[in-house]
Amino acid sequence: MAAVAPRGDAGPGPDAPVLPAVRADLTALAGYHSAQVEVDVRLNTNESPLAPPPAWLDAFRTGLEDVDFNRYPDRGASALRRALGESHGVGADRIFCANGSNEVLQSLLLAYGGPGRSVALFEPTYTLHRHIAHITGTAVAAGRRTDDFLLDLDEVERVLAAHRPVITFLCSPNNPTGRADSVEQIRAVVAMAPGLVVVDEAYGQFAGSSALDLVARGGPGAERIVVVRTFSKTWAMAGLRLGYLVGAAPVVDACQLVVLPYHLDAAKQLAGRLALQFVDEMETRVAMLNEERGRIAAALAELPVETWPSDANFILFRPTSRSAREVWAGLLDASVLVRDCSDWPGLAGCLRVTVGLPAENDRFMAALTESLT
Ligand code: PMP
Repeated sequence: MAAVAPRGDAGPGPDAPVLPAVRADLTALAGYHSAQVEVDVRLNTNESPLAPPPAWLDAFRTGLEDVDFNRYPDRGASALRRALGESHGVGADRIFCANGSNEVLQSLLLAYGGPGRSVALFEPTYTLHRHIAHITGTAVAAGRRTDDFLLDLDEVERVLAAHRPVITFLCSPNNPTGRADSVEQIRAVVAMAPGLVVVDEAYGQFAGSSALDLVARGGPGAERIVVVRTFSKTWAMAGLRLGYLVGAAPVVDACQLVVLPYHLDAAKQLAGRLALQFVDEMETRVAMLNEERGRIAAALAELPVETWPSDANFILFRPTSRSAREVWAGLLDASVLVRDCSDWPGLAGCLRVTVGLPAENDRFMAALTESLT
């Protein structure tokens, strides 16, 4: 053990304790951040523009009065998992919950990744898949999407055969490019994958299809499919941090092994369970946003931008008359914040706009028209 340096004018000796260096494999990593600046119109992080229903808030407030705050929460989050299981037609033993779907992804990587193991992903895609893999010491085998950002099954086959990943990540609809993978494509990936296929459906309710059907119905490889969902988008609860997976019971057990005891607080368990009583309100929000997405897409089609179809609550576009950076700054001058993806691999010159409320989208479209000229 290093001796503690004596106090005195000579300063600490050569063996004095110093601030340890951060793990060498982490020093090259940049954090994952989106600008948090004060603006009138915030369209950069794919949140819900609407608060949860007032009736949910009333029920939550009332329910909080019965929480034993001096006691640890239900470690197994049994009531929440049962309710989620019922909503997806599976048992509670097939649901794992965590603090946001990012923590679900981290739990999967802690349980199945690590040194000597690899995961596959197809870029451009949600950058946290790669980021969390790095943090957990898991190698990343990255394939490319087509020029239109779709999944290329030949490329998937090549990457999976070469690397034999323990997890193959899909993101459907894919953030930040927008399209969902079809059930047939997902089935084809499962047939090729040597391990788990994790389908990140953070935006699943905005799309017409879901891999949940494959998980719930069973069939070849169904026990290797894991669908990850979040309360941050369609459920309008990004501030609460709640996400979950639907998968085979052994996958749930594996994730439970790596989370800290009582990781899911009692208030959050209550909030999530109550939210499930407001499915109609959630679906109304989704329908409104999908309609607005169509309106933005139609407006973009008239402007000097390249754009791609979206099955989510955001749209990727590439200005062609001015640089992405100039357009992003022009929007910010008009107090409209969008996501600048222009320096992400494979997304040169691209910006991503989250679908907001009609008035916010009007502000965005007016400011965009202005800043493109
Ligand atoms: N997956 C995808 C594809 C996302 O876009 C996000 C949020 N940006 C997440 C997961 C994480 O969401 P949360 O941790 O808020 O559930």
